[in-house]
Amino acid sequence: MVYLDNAGTTKPYDEVVEKFSHESREEYFNISAIYQESFDLSKRVDEARRYFLSIIGGREGDRIIFTSGATEANNIAILGSSQMKNKRFLFSSGEHPSVYNTAIFLKSQGYNVDFIPIQRNGQVDYDALDNMCDSEVCFISTMLVSNETGAINDIEKIAHIVKAKSPKAIIHVDGVQALGKISIDVKKCHIDLLSMSSHKIGGLKGCGALYVSSNVNLKPTYFGGGQEYGIRSGTVNASAVLSFQKALEMRMNNLEQNYKKAEEIKNYLLERVKKYKNVIVTSCKDGSPYIISLLFKGNRGETIQRFLSSRGILVGTGSACSSKKVGNRVLQEMGYTKDEILGAIRISLFDENTKEHIDSLISALDKYFEKINT
Ligand code: PMP
Repeated sequence: MVYLDNAGTTKPYDEVVEKFSHESREEYFNISAIYQESFDLSKRVDEARRYFLSIIGGREGDRIIFTSGATEANNIAILGSSQMKNKRFLFSSGEHPSVYNTAIFLKSQGYNVDFIPIQRNGQVDYDALDNMCDSEVCFISTMLVSNETGAINDIEKIAHIVKAKSPKAIIHVDGVQALGKISIDVKKCHIDLLSMSSHKIGGLKGCGALYVSSNVNLKPTYFGGGQEYGIRSGTVNASAVLSFQKALEMRMNNLEQNYKKAEEIKNYLLERVKKYKNVIVTSCKDGSPYIISLLFKGNRGETIQRFLSSRGILVGTGSACSSKKVGNRVLQEMGYTKDEILGAIRISLFDENTKEHIDSLISALDKYFEKINT
């Protein structure tokens, strides 16, 4: 099998699975209990918090809240910040459904919500943002790396634009497709809240984290035992947290090497798809090398995807979380027509991918086009 849908999820590292299994068997304690075993485990979870903070450039006093994934982290970040109904909330139009649909929910509840357009290259439209911003903006949410196209937003620039007009506005960033793949510096970029997910970096599904800067006062959106600084009640899944840390350590040990390798494979793929007259590359050159989005004009991405999967090659057709819905909202926002968007496929890379995998993809695509043209 050739797996090229790593933005949807990654195969967990063996070391991560072993770590989870070991921790679950030996260290199954509830970290909120008061005996020594729990206390020791709780200390290791706190070390994991400090490790995450060190990787993203957090400081003493900042918090890491462990969650069930980035969907929950995004919801907590947005709903927990929505204390001022009369202020303005801005969201980039390119966001993942876990942000976009939460924004739509806020709007339905009478909040003042606006969406910032994105450019043809998938980045936030910085000029439009500048025009939209005023002193009433209290919150802005924008992703660092797009899960659809790999476009990288200039968060520092976005923060400057927003803070120039509204210095106290909270900056939330969905960092899911960036963590462990490109470097993140929350202080340099003025990020107040950062969402992360374990299963996109060789960790397990069902675990994520939210970075909360010391200056942000999130309110809980549901209630229970008051774990995770009172913001995310529920027994902490310590085994999942420690294996998330393991996955991140493994990524960070080889960050640059892996980036370079992904870049080489991306360039190789872009070179090889040039021969197709009907292809549009919607990913920009300086985007993440891990995600490549292609449109095959006059074709259906789903049909291509099925053909490829029948030959053991797994690719995505846009966001896996919303792939059952027709069309692709983000590509539409980038200005592609509905017909063009129908032909979208997404190729996303991780450690195990090689140029040979791209060769297999290309020869399967050749067969697909041969078949439909005969
Ligand atoms: N944000 C982005 C950018 C994503 O790619 C995803 C996963 N598709 C999520 C949020 C949701 O993450 P999780 O599966 O951990 O809830």
